[in-house]
Amino acid sequence: MPVSASHPSCADSRTATDPTTRVVRDGLRVAVLGSTGSIGTNTLDVIAASEGRFEPWLLAARRSVASLLEQAQRFRPAWVAVVDPAVAGSIGAAALPAGTRLAVGEDALADLVADPAVDRVVSAIVGAAGLRSTWAALEAGKTVALANKETLVMAGPLVTRLAARSGGAILPVDSEHSAIHQALAAGAAGEVARIVLTASGGPFRTRTSESLAAVTPEEALRHPTWSMGPKITVDSATMMNKALELVEARWLFGVPAEKLAVLVHPQSIVHSLVEFVDGSVVAQMSPPDMRLPIQYALSYPRRLPGPARRLDFSQAFALEFEPPDEDRFPALRLGHAAAARGGTAGAVLNAANEEAVGRFLAGSLRFTDIAAACGRALDAHPFQADPTLDDVLRLDAWAREEVRSWN
Ligand code: NAD
Ligand code: MG
Repeated sequence: MPVSASHPSCADSRTATDPTTRVVRDGLRVAVLGSTGSIGTNTLDVIAASEGRFEPWLLAARRSVASLLEQAQRFRPAWVAVVDPAVAGSIGAAALPAGTRLAVGEDALADLVADPAVDRVVSAIVGAAGLRSTWAALEAGKTVALANKETLVMAGPLVTRLAARSGGAILPVDSEHSAIHQALAAGAAGEVARIVLTASGGPFRTRTSESLAAVTPEEALRHPTWSMGPKITVDSATMMNKALELVEARWLFGVPAEKLAVLVHPQSIVHSLVEFVDGSVVAQMSPPDMRLPIQYALSYPRRLPGPARRLDFSQAFALEFEPPDEDRFPALRLGHAAAARGGTAGAVLNAANEEAVGRFLAGSLRFTDIAAACGRALDAHPFQADPTLDDVLRLDAWAREEVRSWN
């Protein structure tokens, strides 16, 4: 049973009145991990517009103390957590509103997400750093609104097994996976022929292979349709983001890799498609605005009015689709291979990519070397089909070291 389909409808467990009515005295208590980032701030927009249906109980970030404190003043959560102890010392007692407490460090964050007070966890820390707190939340049986795809890419089988064991659940925030989750409701699991993830194609969709080697970080950070944090923006430019999303979909929906495909759709309005055995294709459409999939993952199994932009059918608009070019964007092949192979392949691909993106942004690796470095790490790594969490973490460290020493 795919994890995302085994959603307990705990969304309403603490509401004093029916959440479909306008007055809710006691909202769903939400832990927002990575609250100062792109997904985090969009989540707070959704919470602010929810008329008390959602309440931020915990806001957590690594080191952006100024914006975290601003958020604390505005939302008055029970807790704020700063993961980097080096910056926590700068927070004076007067900086927090009355009733808000400060927690410091990764261990404290892992304890807080498991607190019985937490109803739903938004996992929006970027990269492998999100694994620890996501794991802690699932272990405690929480429902996790998962933006941090890297957790599933690294440890998909372990994480989905953990959720099944603990009674926790994962609801996707990634727009493609949210679209798939919505489209899957149109048929039974055995009736799915293919899942097609759409991709904007990024800023270099029409560039020649030759010109890609000279791409600068500044160019790669200019995404045509989405405004996101720097790491995922570079991932979109290389199309590694879609590669990671193939692996994410494989574990999230429990489908074999050969049923997963990618389709380039520059307008980012169709967020993904599910083809059923009879040939019917069901898609989900909305403007590119993460507030919709975030809210869906918070309100599920219900739908609520919300702040996300809407399609305007009074204006003419066109939707284009084209097959992806795996020669210009070789990261896609790595994604298909990692989804098919399973085991430790996802962890190695993810860690190698994180390190390579860091080096590209720091100017010590060319754009086209990102996928090349990842391919090399994947080929060279001692593959294990059924790794433990320790194996995954060891290979994560190994892949980073490989790419760090790559010339
Ligand atoms: P971002 O860089 O804008 O924000 C990252 C957040 O994580 C910040 O709040 C930061 O303080 C926190 N953080 C970073 N390292 C941390 C650590 N070691 N411990 C604790 N907190 C840490 O990133 P983003 O674009 O919001 O992306 C977040 C996640 O969501 C990523 O996994 C990304 O792939 C995924 N995602 C993002 C989008 C989007 O539109 N931005 C869409 C789909 C999926
Ligand atoms: Mg996505």
